[in-house]
Amino acid sequence: MASPAPNARRTFAIISHPDAGKTTLTEKLLLFGGAIHLAGEVKARGQNRRARSDWMKIEQQRGISVTSSVMTFERGGVTYNLLDTPGHEDFSEDTYRTLTAVDSAVMVIDAARGIEAQTRKLFEVCRLRDVPIITFINKVDREGRDPFALLDEIADVLALDVAPLNWPVGQGGQFRGLYDLRKHTLLLPDGTDTRAAGRTEQLSGIDDERLTGLVGDEGAELLREQAELALGGYATLDPDLYRAGALTPVVFGSALKDFGVADLIDALAQYAPPPRTQPAIPAAVTPDRADVTGFIFKVQANMNPQHRDRIAFMRICSGKFRRGMKLKQVSTGKAIAINSPIFFFAQDREIADEAYPGDIIGIPNHGVLRVGDSLVEGEAVTFTGIPNFAPEILRRVRLGDPTKSKQLRTALTDMAEEGVTQLFRPLIGAQWIVGVVGQLQLEVLISRLEAEYKVDAGIEPSPFDTARWLSAEDPKKLQTFIEQHRPAIAEDRDGAPVFMARDQWELNYTAQRETALKFTATRERA
Ligand code: GDP
Repeated sequence: MASPAPNARRTFAIISHPDAGKTTLTEKLLLFGGAIHLAGEVKARGQNRRARSDWMKIEQQRGISVTSSVMTFERGGVTYNLLDTPGHEDFSEDTYRTLTAVDSAVMVIDAARGIEAQTRKLFEVCRLRDVPIITFINKVDREGRDPFALLDEIADVLALDVAPLNWPVGQGGQFRGLYDLRKHTLLLPDGTDTRAAGRTEQLSGIDDERLTGLVGDEGAELLREQAELALGGYATLDPDLYRAGALTPVVFGSALKDFGVADLIDALAQYAPPPRTQPAIPAAVTPDRADVTGFIFKVQANMNPQHRDRIAFMRICSGKFRRGMKLKQVSTGKAIAINSPIFFFAQDREIADEAYPGDIIGIPNHGVLRVGDSLVEGEAVTFTGIPNFAPEILRRVRLGDPTKSKQLRTALTDMAEEGVTQLFRPLIGAQWIVGVVGQLQLEVLISRLEAEYKVDAGIEPSPFDTARWLSAEDPKKLQTFIEQHRPAIAEDRDGAPVFMARDQWELNYTAQRETALKFTATRERA
């Protein structure tokens, strides 16, 4: 029997500032959708569970999500792959890479706070990669800013056209319901104390006489006035402009009270792009290419400290993946049999045997697969645009017990492979230098050294403050520079040369003088 055609796919991430409601919205999306499958639970059986919960302590203490997962749900014949992005800004490196694996994003904004720092940063990454964005303005059940002010802020700050799809009837204590500006439906609170979403009424339009009976005189008047202004004053939704990243559809809602969640899913189904063509060398890969291709955007350690296995997350870019397939790791030419892939696409919680473009599979391995790796069934392609970021903090690792230096080395290499930290080997001297983009990564490093590798270590200052990857058209010029600056040169994990500067001033000074050299803040694996 021929297997049924795959569902349409929507692979997306949620970007937001901490506390805007990403977690709540995620839960509600899963609830409104069908099959739920949490990647983090896959290996959390028996003894592992304890290790996992120990590890989770860091997350709880800091109120952040360090680990991240893939969640799949279905609704109306569409399969949604939601890639979780760690919310804390120290983990933006990981988040950036996750955004390389999605086709669109949902931007959650707190109605009382508007656009916050982290939202804006993540938005810029999406823009850089032409990832189209649907905006969810959350918490309309609480006192917040005026809807017009919020929409204008999005338009001004992000330089986007905004197209509201629905409108809140009042806010906070005066919140009476949510009106769909195009379908003319009104979603009302259920009438209990929780004021969660209840029944939906179909109206003929904002002039429908029943409106007063449903939301009161004041509510009806307010809605009529505001809806008219909104429809006249803002763009109508042009799907092409949205997909080009010039316009954002806006859904108002309350994740907590179930308002707007269905509207958001429907908007994703209707407008968000299906799996997109992915940039690659020698040529971009279209999703209808016949053979399987994909790239690793994330590597996560198993929570079991006894085993050093990792799960590499691969986005499938083309072809139909089947369990047991052999794929070639393009960087090494090695063939890898993928016998026990973890499918996050699961119907009725049964393990699936196939995955399609836009899906994510988890590949257990022992450190062979790395972030940025391309995997192919047939002819080699190398996916581009999955960057390493120049660290903003450079530190030496001090070992408590000198006999553990081998373990330390293994641990640091492992964690560099996972992308938790970067690792630099100075040309002179024996001490490794770790680089991170945020302080929290150092805490994670130390606590994992202890928990998983039984290595007691601390962090020491390094003489360097910042690092840049070096390259030059003329390899001789690069070599000369390296010879002249040996004390400030290190190699990264791949042996690529890195210049370490004592401060920003020294970096700028050197970069300005060395015009034949390129000093870059990101590096892609070739
Ligand atoms: P995250 O940090 O973005 O994941 O935010 P959370 O989902 O953890 O939400 C932060 C806080 O806002 C929690 O106390 C939530 O209960 C609350 N919250 C989230 N969504 C809503 C909403 O729609 N209305 C209200 N009133 N509170 C909300």
